[in-house]
Amino acid sequence: MLNLIFTLLISPANTPHSAAKSTWIYIALYFYNAYKGKTRAGDEIFISLNSYIRRELSLVKVIIIGANAAGMSAASQIKRQEPEWDVMVLEKGSYISYAGCGIPYFVQGLVTDLDKLITVTPDDALHKRGLNLKLHHEVTAIDPVINTVSVETPDGLITENFDRLIIATGANPHQTSIEYKASKRILNAHRLDDAKNIRSLIESKQADKCAVIGGGYIAIEMLEALKKQGLNTHMFHRRNDLSRNFEKEISDIVLAEMDNEGIELHLNQAVTRITGHNSEVELQTEKEKFIFDMAIVATGVEPNSCLAQDSGIEIGVKGAIRVNRFMQTNYDHIYAAGDCAETTNIITGEPQYLALALKANKEGIVAGLNACGGNEEFPGVLGSAITKFFDLGIARTGLTLAEAENCGFEAIKFSITANSRAHYYPGRSDVKIVLIAEKKEGRLLGAQMAGPVDGVKRIDVYATAITAEMNIDQIFELDLAYAPPFSPVYDPVVLSGRVGRKKIGSP
Ligand SMILES: Cc1cc2nc3c(=O)[nH]c(=O)nc-3n(C[C@H](O)[C@H](O)[C@H](O)COP(=O)(O)OP(=O)(O)OC[C@H]3O[C@@H](n4cnc5c(N)ncnc54)[C@H](O)[C@@H]3O)c2cc1C
Repeated sequence: MLNLIFTLLISPANTPHSAAKSTWIYIALYFYNAYKGKTRAGDEIFISLNSYIRRELSLVKVIIIGANAAGMSAASQIKRQEPEWDVMVLEKGSYISYAGCGIPYFVQGLVTDLDKLITVTPDDALHKRGLNLKLHHEVTAIDPVINTVSVETPDGLITENFDRLIIATGANPHQTSIEYKASKRILNAHRLDDAKNIRSLIESKQADKCAVIGGGYIAIEMLEALKKQGLNTHMFHRRNDLSRNFEKEISDIVLAEMDNEGIELHLNQAVTRITGHNSEVELQTEKEKFIFDMAIVATGVEPNSCLAQDSGIEIGVKGAIRVNRFMQTNYDHIYAAGDCAETTNIITGEPQYLALALKANKEGIVAGLNACGGNEEFPGVLGSAITKFFDLGIARTGLTLAEAENCGFEAIKFSITANSRAHYYPGRSDVKIVLIAEKKEGRLLGAQMAGPVDGVKRIDVYATAITAEMNIDQIFELDLAYAPPFSPVYDPVVLSGRVGRKKIGSP
């Protein structure tokens, strides 16, 4: 039907393009006026017709909510594919394209200027990339049927319509059972403003004794940053080990290193309440009360998906926005990407929630391409991650033993300690490797490492092997490079394959 109308009105072949445009805009306005304010069904007819016409005329408008890793990757991709489209990026804050991952290194003083964490400035986004970027614009509601978003702007509430929508709202600090309210001295390490506030407390000598609550990557990185700033630094964690993402063997090494560097460890102590006062913070655990100058709550993140949920967009694991491999939500023209969206675990094929930068960037690209009519799939993730504490590198990929067993694998775990370099070469140190493999066929399911910072990037070999569904025998067979400054003759990865063969009964 629409094709017929289109043919009738446009095909008198020589109709000048601008005249055709005006005709269609006129028709669109006619329908709009005819149906506006009447039934919702009328609105829907108008929306379909309008978006068809706009697509034909390259007047497509894409709205992207959130201007960091996922949102800006999507926006740039769309502009590259469809330079004429209106790509409106709505960002509630004042920063775009910033490296949250750099926050601990800014707090530590290793990165001196906060601007260095920014990849694209608002000016470049507007003028070089041609994006219709709006800062301080917070989307407060989505109507996925009549294709509008409500936006709180510095000048009041407005409504914007869209043909396609990409939700890239990221994550929020995890709402723990700890009773606290973020304030001058109680902070999360989540946004650049947090980084600025933490550093300004340190530089103005208002923070000497500080607490970090949590046992994951961000807690580890913040502990290093504060200790390196010379602060009296305490770690609180409700478990006896680091977070469940780490196998005990790795956790023990990291905690020993923390103790060695003078971090006061309060393990097995759940913090129940943190109260901020003018010049101090009161921290209550199940067992004791402590006074600090500053507390940083780094207990993980959760998807910022309320906006989607409230509008009837389907929600999946851990409250993340449910998407298919094309990054589409349950509405074909609405996509979600990054820390707000769920993904697929490459090993199990099951939906999973993970908040990591590479995933966010790649998903943004996939959502952007598909919003332009592409057919790209995002394959999923292994949860590969890496960090450091002082001179100790820590890395993981794939499943932990507990995760493997929960997913129904009959799995074994074994570990080795190997030399990072030839034993006689200066700077050699121990690398601990923990592998998780399927018991019968020896298929590799997970790997974790702790060792020198330049040694644990070997985790990428395991990530590649898991993706290729390699087994332990094949790990041993890998032809990895050797020279004394880099590894022993048997690289720790190859050695782990040799030990693993024995564990699973190969010769
Ligand atoms: C301290 C720290 C260290 C990290 N280190 C690493 C690391 O080493 N490696 C790694 O892989 N990952 C790391 N990460 C995680 C990584 O930064 C995130 O995975 C990545 O930033 C996710 O990008 P995103 O675009 O999905 O979400 P975000 O970066 O959270 O961006 C979402 C954006 O949406 C905006 N927004 C939210 N709601 C609205 C709304 N309603 N209207 C308008 N705008 C809105 C927000 O203001 C924000 O700018 C770290 C994170 C932190 C905080």
